[in-house]
Amino acid sequence: MEDARADIERLAGLIADARRAVVFTGAGISTESGIPDFRSPTGIWSQTTPIYYEEFLASEEARIEAWRRKFLVDRDIVDATPNRGHRAVAKLVRTGKVASVITQNIDNLHQDSGVPAEKVIELHGNGSYAKCVSCQERYELGPIKEAFEKDGMPPACTLCGAPVKTATISFGQAMPDAEMKRARRETLACDLFLAIGSSLVVYPAAGFPVLAKESGSTLVILNREATDLDGIADLVINREIGPTLGEAANVN
Ligand code: NAD
Repeated sequence: MEDARADIERLAGLIADARRAVVFTGAGISTESGIPDFRSPTGIWSQTTPIYYEEFLASEEARIEAWRRKFLVDRDIVDATPNRGHRAVAKLVRTGKVASVITQNIDNLHQDSGVPAEKVIELHGNGSYAKCVSCQERYELGPIKEAFEKDGMPPACTLCGAPVKTATISFGQAMPDAEMKRARRETLACDLFLAIGSSLVVYPAAGFPVLAKESGSTLVILNREATDLDGIADLVINREIGPTLGEAANVN
């Protein structure tokens, strides 16, 4: 308990001293909202393997499987609400301490917690809607789900006929250019980089904490378990996110 208090005080001190902080989040910040992460022992990858983008494009069977999984995973996501960790981040943004939130998450919970959408940089897209892979036409999930439950067929674009996919970035799919550039700019401009709830193994996203450190900012890693980047961090806290960040930011 003593140690937890010391960790929280060090974190609060670094936040107080920062002129411009950036928060970088992974699936770990959302587990306290009931959304499983990928790499914990009970995470999604312990039960399934990813469908690569090429496979999605090439095979109707893969598209059917992708949509089946999507609606399965959504049972956890649609009812999820922001937790104490999200609220702490939202407060740090509101008070001007944090300039932007770079996230690997697709669950929209940072926006739901009150962080203005323009301050959230989504590196892996957003799972709350879908897009045509060719002409980028937007589709809402409700009607897609209804049709899928009726005929089990994956959706196709009504304008151009190409497959429709959730607006997330799949393995093997190019990263979104504008978001990558913004994330890089924000990383270079910050003096404190808080990496929260990420195993820091998915690149290029995990390159941002490295870039932050290389460009002279203070790097904090808050994650329940060790990460590959712990060795370069100025402060590593292996604790639960909600209580730790909540205490440090004085948020319930
Ligand atoms: P990850 O699953 O690889 O790592 C999550 C890390 O968070 C793990 O190291 C785990 O120990 C830690 N963690 C989990 N709950 C925690 C808690 N309450 N307190 C402290 N630590 C906790 O996730 P990642 O690094 O984000 O990479 C996985 C990819 O999965 C990302 O690309 C992301 O797009 C996607 N993803 C997103 C969601 C979501 O949107 N909520 C959920 C699952 C996966």
